[in-house]
Amino acid sequence: MFQKSIFFLLIILSFSIIDDQNIKEKSPNIILILADDLGYADVGFNGSKDIITPHLDQIANNGVVFKEGYVSYPVCGPSRAGLITGRYQDTFGFGKNPLFAPKDPNMGLPLSEQTIADMLKLSNYKTFAVGKWHLGAHETLRPLKRGFDEFFGFLTGGHRYFPHEWDLEDETKVTSQGAAYRTKLLRNEKRIEEKEYLTDALSRESVDFIERNSNNPFFIYLAYNAPHGPLQATEKYLQRYDHIKEKNRKTYAAMVSAVDDGVGDIISKLKEKGIYDNTIIYFLSDNGGRLRGDSDNGELRGKKGNLFEGGIRVPFVMQWPKKIKGGQIYNNPVISLDIFATSKALTSPEISSKNELHGVNLIPFLTGEKTHAPHKHLFWRNNLMQNDPNLRAEASAVRSQKFKFIKNKEAVALYDLKNDISEKNNLKNQEIDVYNKLLSEHKKWLKTLKDPIFLGLMANKQYNKLNPDRFN
Ligand code: CA
Repeated sequence: MFQKSIFFLLIILSFSIIDDQNIKEKSPNIILILADDLGYADVGFNGSKDIITPHLDQIANNGVVFKEGYVSYPVCGPSRAGLITGRYQDTFGFGKNPLFAPKDPNMGLPLSEQTIADMLKLSNYKTFAVGKWHLGAHETLRPLKRGFDEFFGFLTGGHRYFPHEWDLEDETKVTSQGAAYRTKLLRNEKRIEEKEYLTDALSRESVDFIERNSNNPFFIYLAYNAPHGPLQATEKYLQRYDHIKEKNRKTYAAMVSAVDDGVGDIISKLKEKGIYDNTIIYFLSDNGGRLRGDSDNGELRGKKGNLFEGGIRVPFVMQWPKKIKGGQIYNNPVISLDIFATSKALTSPEISSKNELHGVNLIPFLTGEKTHAPHKHLFWRNNLMQNDPNLRAEASAVRSQKFKFIKNKEAVALYDLKNDISEKNNLKNQEIDVYNKLLSEHKKWLKTLKDPIFLGLMANKQYNKLNPDRFN
């Protein structure tokens, strides 16, 4: 009897060891690539005729295009806060684009939040943040304090692209918001000398990280600042665009090409290392195009900064050759917040997350296991001028499967996005029940939110008055 029990115990143990090994073997690498201010129609997979993106299109061919892929905010900072926490950022007060304020521990992502890198560290992932951070410049808020093993990039909301313009040694030499674009780059905590065009340097570092980490699961958060302003490109990329005469458009196109080449280099390295099939690559933009003679949001109404589709619906693709069938076009709404939830489901489903997640695991929807829409509703709040009590205003939107309610300066409306992608035909008075339902869902959601906890980019002067020692 005793021997029999031991025998069964051994069998159970050996199964659980095999099981552990399987889980370990299956852990996919995750590469999350973010573009900055990229227009919806500025990639081949969304129909661009003049900008050439063969490598991004290859992701689309080998994976999934999310035609209705959203971000949680129409400008950089809050959108990134949502992406990296998997939560609507207003839940924790990240409702503004942060100012560059390296002495301010409250100007950025609150320490109460768990980042996707924190979460992946629990499953022994090696983690790397590359490029634009914009989630806090204070020493307690920097990437190495937020779950990343390594960092290469800059802390600001943007950066100049040519190394000779990085003439400020570090943040102590910065004397204005705009000057922060001129600091030397950081490798981990150290300022470094860099010689390459910024986008190329970010790609190179990502490739190098893959080279060094191909034997262990890794996560790369590659946040290109391209094609965010200033519009700066090298001849290598500009010469591909003789067919574009308008100067801003041409430079912008060249900047997108630099990103696309970087994605190509990453894919080549994954193949070389034999880890291509089990690496998930996401590519999306943090918000829509700004439409200043550079970007193109196609049929979408609106642009960066507002809640029409052009502000929040972005170019969005992913691939995972090992599990996800290629060539898919996915037409249900998804959101950047889903990336955290998906990553968690794949790596640590048994551990409860620190805070409530607002996204869903997308994989069962892409394998066909689940056929319903991933989200009942998606929500937005745009904190336009909340810091000025005289101009207190905000904009709202909520999306269901088919409809979108929006309230902003230009409209209080209900649109049928399946038949009216350009948000032209207001159905508020025809679809009264739908309108009321979405409005009431949005009101419920608003109750879960916090007011912004720091002053944003638009309050630069006000912040300087309140913080006379902001810079040295
Ligand atoms: Ca942006």
